[in-house]
Amino acid sequence: MPSYEFRCNTCGRAITLFYKRVADYEAAQAERACPHCGSASLTRQIRRVAFAKPTKDYTRMSSGEMLSVFENGDSREVGRMIHEVGGDAALNDAAMQDAAKRLMNGEAPAKVERDLSAADTAKP
Ligand SMILES: [Zn+2]
Repeated sequence: MPSYEFRCNTCGRAITLFYKRVADYEAAQAERACPHCGSASLTRQIRRVAFAKPTKDYTRMSSGEMLSVFENGDSREVGRMIHEVGGDAALNDAAMQDAAKRLMNGEAPAKVERDLSAADTAKP
């Protein structure tokens, strides 16, 4: 059964919620609340981000782990990941190269991603 970990923004407790299916997790999104204080202000905790090794091998990450890097919101880390995973193929693409550079400079991933998809739509 998939479990989802949250931290309550009100009382600060760690919460684990279980759902039979991912669809149930998504359906429950609106009514999710802290079992301790009833607050609906919960922040999803990403477990897979804890790495044992000091060097991260992004090329061996699962897509879930990559997503967790994105969700974690560390721009520099996202930039490194794109650089390593994308390798030469991704970096031949000027827009991708620019995005990776901006992320490594600490720009917000959401902003960079938005610009990147805007550039994508502009392509013929
Ligand atoms: Zn709470």
